[in-house]
Amino acid sequence: MEKRIVFATGNQNKMKEIHMILADLGMPVYSMKELGVDENIVEDGLTFEENAEIKARAVARHLPNDIILADDSGLEIDYLDKAPGVYSARFAGEDTSYDIKNRILLDKLEGVPEEQRTARFVCAVCAVFPDGDVKTVRGTIEGVIAHEITGENGFGYDPIFYYPECGCTTAEMEPEKKNELSHRGKALRAMREIIDAKCGKAEE
Ligand code: IMP
Repeated sequence: MEKRIVFATGNQNKMKEIHMILADLGMPVYSMKELGVDENIVEDGLTFEENAEIKARAVARHLPNDIILADDSGLEIDYLDKAPGVYSARFAGEDTSYDIKNRILLDKLEGVPEEQRTARFVCAVCAVFPDGDVKTVRGTIEGVIAHEITGENGFGYDPIFYYPECGCTTAEMEPEKKNELSHRGKALRAMREIIDAKCGKAEE
C-alpha cells in the first residue's frame, strides 16, 4: 500500500505551508479533513510537544496505516513570561480576530523598550508511524514584537512578529522566505529527515 502522510490539522493556512515544505518528500500529504476525520481534539497538554502528540495519536486511532503528523505551535513573548505560548490560538478567545489579538499584545507591550520585546515562534511536530513509533521535533524562530501591525502575508501573529535580520515582519515575507526561516519550516524539515530515514531511504 502506498505510504501517505496525514496532517492532523484543519487549519488551511498551515496546510498551505506544510504542502510547500513537504513537497519533495515523495509521499502524498493530506489533511485529516480530506480523509474524513473531523474530530474535535482537546489540546490539554502543557507543552507544544505534548499537544502535538495528543493530536497525532488522536488521528492515528482513525487511520492506523498512515504516517500521522501533527504540529502545535505558538508565540512566546519573554516580557509576558512566554505568553501566549501553548494558549496562542485561545488567547483573548478562540473566535476573536487576530487583528484584535495582535492589538491586545501590542497594548501590553506599550512603552516596553526594544531589548525587552524578544519573542519566538515555536513549533513542535510529532509523527506517529504505523509500527507505533512516535517521534517529536521542535523548531523555533527568534524575533521581537513590532510596534505596529504590518504586512498581509502569513496568518495569526505574523503581522507583529518582526524578524530583525530581514528588517520586516513575517507577514511581509514571501511565503518561500517564511518557510525557509520559520519554526514550522525547521521542524518539518527535521521531521522530513526522520521520515526519509525510516520509510524512504530504508526501502530504496
Ligand atoms: P495551533 O493550531 O494549536 O498550533 O495554534 C497555533 C497558534 O499559534 C495560532 O494561534 C497561530 O495563530 C499561532 N501561530 C503558530 N504559527 C504561527 C505562524 O507561523 N505565524 C503566526 N502565528 C502563528
